[in-house]
Amino acid sequence: MRAAVLREIPGELTIEDLRVDAPRPREVLIRTVAAGVCHSDLHHLDGSLQHAVPVVMGHESAGIVEAVGSEVTDFAPGDPVVSCLSVFCGHCEMCLTGHPYRCFKDPSGRGKGVPSRLTRDDGAVVHQFYGVGGFAEEMLVSEHAVVKVTPDIPLDRAALLGCGVMTGLGAVFRTARVEPGTTVAVVGAGGVGLAAIQGARIAGAARVIAVDRVADKLTLAGRLGATDAVDATDGDPVEQVQELTGGGVDYAFEAIGNPVTVRQCFSMAKRGGFACVIGLLASDDTVTLTGRDISSLKIFTSTAMGGGSFRVDIPRYADMYLRGVLDLDSMVSARLPITGVNDAFTAMKAGEVARSVITF
Ligand SMILES: [Zn+2]
Ligand SMILES: [Zn+2]
Repeated sequence: MRAAVLREIPGELTIEDLRVDAPRPREVLIRTVAAGVCHSDLHHLDGSLQHAVPVVMGHESAGIVEAVGSEVTDFAPGDPVVSCLSVFCGHCEMCLTGHPYRCFKDPSGRGKGVPSRLTRDDGAVVHQFYGVGGFAEEMLVSEHAVVKVTPDIPLDRAALLGCGVMTGLGAVFRTARVEPGTTVAVVGAGGVGLAAIQGARIAGAARVIAVDRVADKLTLAGRLGATDAVDATDGDPVEQVQELTGGGVDYAFEAIGNPVTVRQCFSMAKRGGFACVIGLLASDDTVTLTGRDISSLKIFTSTAMGGGSFRVDIPRYADMYLRGVLDLDSMVSARLPITGVNDAFTAMKAGEVARSVITF
């Protein structure tokens, strides 16, 4: 099967033919239908984060179950499923206290002494990005890496639920628990930021301020629920948000992964407000807080996978899409074949798109 492989970090993807092993007892083999192009992949392509190579990239995918291992009972061939990189073991302290996205173990691979799921013709091992490897015609994954979705949702839209949309909505619903009637700012109106903007609208926020440097993204943010747009190229975005709200927002979210915008996000929250970093920073990035910042009684936190449980959240969000509450159609800005995957990352780097989706 064909897959987009990263051979070295930093680097570009190459399309290779790989062999897929048969499912082991608790694994699921999926024929991929669509794969969203997410920023976390780009962090590895550009070298700001590391992963074992060679690796099939991609993790925000959806497809149809083709085969299941002998002990799998939750899935059957023909089931539509969405993948999630937050593979959970189901029995560590984090999983058992309701935080599967913080799972202590690494349940993503097969463990030592077991043949690799993916190999080249010469037998060389190829890894899967966080146990998924979604830029591939087939995904062989742990049963704990997928969730079933209703057959009514088109899979090129469902794929977005697997990472970006779940992360943005979860940051609002689960991490921050945004209250109706409050004010929200979202810095970065890419895929995750647009999901957070929609989440704030659905949660009933009175004002939802989108902050970005790209006019088209601010326009799209307005369609998806932003009540105000702040063009970050048009003067200090923190001052603009403070002016719009008379001193700052109740909840500020950063959906880029940049120390400058993280700092701005913190400053946009009012005294006692909530500032939440959704974007992924490089390991050695630094953000400075002063004594006055520390005394401002703000809550400053980060979120991963929206702080949720994807087995619970993704079917809910699929239902919200089908009821017309959540707009996924407007978030897909391009559909490309797998051979166009590097172009999708180029467009992402240029900040041109909400979400590109690879279709198979
Ligand atoms: Zn666990
Ligand atoms: Zn992602």
